[in-house]
Amino acid sequence: MPELPDLVRVRRVLSAALSGRRVTGARTGDPTVLRIMVREPFPAALVGRVLLSVERRGHFMRFAFDSGLLLVVNAMLVGKYRLVPPVSRAAHDKDPVALGFALTFDDGAELRYIDDKRMGKVYVVGAVDEQRIPVYGELGVDVLSPGFDRENFVALARGRRDQVRMFLMDKRALASIGNAYADEILFAAGIHPKTFVRKLTADDLGRLHAAIGRVLGGAIEEIERQDQSIDVKVRDFLAVRGRDGQPCPQCGTKIRSVRVGDGDACFCPTCQPTTRRLFVEWEKLPVGANQDAAKPRRKR
Ligand SMILES: [Zn+2]
Repeated sequence: MPELPDLVRVRRVLSAALSGRRVTGARTGDPTVLRIMVREPFPAALVGRVLLSVERRGHFMRFAFDSGLLLVVNAMLVGKYRLVPPVSRAAHDKDPVALGFALTFDDGAELRYIDDKRMGKVYVVGAVDEQRIPVYGELGVDVLSPGFDRENFVALARGRRDQVRMFLMDKRALASIGNAYADEILFAAGIHPKTFVRKLTADDLGRLHAAIGRVLGGAIEEIERQDQSIDVKVRDFLAVRGRDGQPCPQCGTKIRSVRVGDGDACFCPTCQPTTRRLFVEWEKLPVGANQDAAKPRRKR
């Protein structure tokens, strides 16, 4: 998905450009991504309405209109927003195939939501049903909110039986960390992605909590600094994510990729040492050891 730092920027740009503006035209493209939970005709019901606010809630973007209607978007892996300024509209008069929706505003600017993989969801909902949106209604603490302090984080970690990367990515606990920043945060904290949460010491949890704020905060600054248009994913500054096989920026060890749950994690085996044996070390096994009982995991 566009991850938290990307969405922070998207929200800021869209809010500055569009909040308080009236919708003069609305259209939809591929219906696969639309989840219409209202009786009003969509998208016609938006025409003439004022966009009151653009907010980020976890990894969802929430557009509120003066009629009470909401658009809540989970962009998943590749969904993206494009803001087409009035002057360049003529150059874009044909809709992309993957258009989810497009809204034209009273200054002539157009907001487009485009999803090449059709994995994202656009919920069209009234305020009373907002909490029925899957996952959105159960989001955990926002990791960028002031309420996300160390104590709060330690309390969330208590009693977890899963691996730390899966915990970080559990949207019902922490809203919201995706694949890329889960890897970056674990690297910054020096913790192996497969470490079980219950094995983390108080010191580990403190480092991890600090790394969440530091990594996300640094990324937000860097994305703003690069000042690309909002449909460009800025990831070139990441330390380990997407760098499988390349040298670690800290120690030079080759960065590796490992399966964790249903995702792939990138990590540095030296900076993020494992706390348990992931692979059987054959040379250390006594001669004649029962090899079936010590079957190595398939290396990825
Ligand atoms: Zn390293």
